[in-house]
Amino acid sequence: MTNASEDLFTAGPFFLQRLFPDETLYSWCARYHRLSGNRLARDTSLQLFASPTAGFWHDLPSHLGAFQKRTRQQLGDAEAICRQHTLLRYYIPFRSASLIRESIETMTGASVRDLKFRLGLPASRIGANHPLKACPTCMAEDQAATGIAYWHLEHQYPSVWVCPKHSSKLMQCTSRTKTTQRLQWVLPDMVDSDSWLHYPDLRGPGAQFAQKLAQISCDAVQPGNQNLDPTILRDCGLKAAHERGWLQDSGRANLMAIREEFLDQASGIADVPGLDFVRGAAGRDGGFLGSILRSDRAHKHPVKYLVLIAFLFDSWKKLVTFAHECGPNSDHHSLTESDHRRTLLAQKIRDNGLTVSEAARRLSLPLSKAMYWAKKDQLPFERRPRKVDGDLAREIAYGLAQGLSCEEVAQKTTASIDAVRRYRDTHGDVRAAWNAARGLRQRDAFRRDFLEVMQANPDAHQTRLRKTPGSHFDWLRKHDHEWLANQLPGLWRLA
Ligand SMILES: [Zn+2]
Repeated sequence: MTNASEDLFTAGPFFLQRLFPDETLYSWCARYHRLSGNRLARDTSLQLFASPTAGFWHDLPSHLGAFQKRTRQQLGDAEAICRQHTLLRYYIPFRSASLIRESIETMTGASVRDLKFRLGLPASRIGANHPLKACPTCMAEDQAATGIAYWHLEHQYPSVWVCPKHSSKLMQCTSRTKTTQRLQWVLPDMVDSDSWLHYPDLRGPGAQFAQKLAQISCDAVQPGNQNLDPTILRDCGLKAAHERGWLQDSGRANLMAIREEFLDQASGIADVPGLDFVRGAAGRDGGFLGSILRSDRAHKHPVKYLVLIAFLFDSWKKLVTFAHECGPNSDHHSLTESDHRRTLLAQKIRDNGLTVSEAARRLSLPLSKAMYWAKKDQLPFERRPRKVDGDLAREIAYGLAQGLSCEEVAQKTTASIDAVRRYRDTHGDVRAAWNAARGLRQRDAFRRDFLEVMQANPDAHQTRLRKTPGSHFDWLRKHDHEWLANQLPGLWRLA
């Protein structure tokens, strides 16, 4: 046996087996162990990593600096191995480039103790455990093609529970690679049937969702993909929600509509290990859906982002196209609130001194949206007193009895237009007096208009006057018959 501290190649011609496509580093080490003839699992770890335990961290191992040296980089340098053959790959698009660089340094060094904390994994409900998983069909195919079943990296991604290649359910291995009593190099073909855990079958939309989630997860982590900024993802999510009519007038997400659709689409996936956090979406705050779509900038576990993407987009490519359309500098407002009425609202409030409610009414804007914009744009609006009594009530009643518009009354008093309107509509006598006064004002205005039209057309007969725009002839004939008859005695008698 080669001494643990020795160079692997000192024993003469020596060949290291290649990594299989999509194989994890741990899997390669387990195969190496089988071929090496080492009796103890720890000896293989010592040989490869210069550490008796480093190799058994099957997800995010340490000592890769020693590994690259001992293998003379025949499997690639430490960074390439981290990026392509460990679970770090899954986190790369979702964490900053500097954090990933630090993580690679950590894995190259002697301890990964705080790595999962720094990646923010234990803080999430999903946790930091990465159980070993395998697809039974891949196992059979690999066995036939290579003589051995090995661990695929794609199967180990926390949001992948269906084989992207075969659509079969992945099995979870309950044998541990590292316990206080035992270290072991486990390969899928040595796991006995009792040690495989099968999650409940998914049916209908839930099964399709799990499959889409797996495919999107694998596509998301392809090398060369851009880093996924949570702000951009949130913008894309809001834009997609907007297209489906799931945004409220205020520009906020209508969480109730979103979570209902989500619970339909993703039915049953809460029973998949590690995905039980989706149950929270049924809560009032929309659980993870709510926290991603709100302005919460904290980095979430990638599983949550990927579940959201699978819910809103057909594919990773669709999201990328969407993100490009949003543009790198797009913000939440430009996606959801690029409404010219926002500018008009600001003008009416800031320059014309209108209240928010009056400006909203004129722009046919829902009040909730106008209030939202007014607050966001810090428009100078003040809430006027809502309570109307005493002198204020008398002033309002007087103004209304003169037939003034609510706006005119509000300008003459300290009440808001809404308060005047409310007062008018809740006081029957005031309303009746206002209607009568308004009727008289309107009648007088129509009379004036009619006389103007008649003066401009001194020889016109009845039909011509009737057809002249602005003469109000029909209205006057109906409501002010006697006056009209007196103005046009000759013509009227002819009619
Ligand atoms: Zn498979």
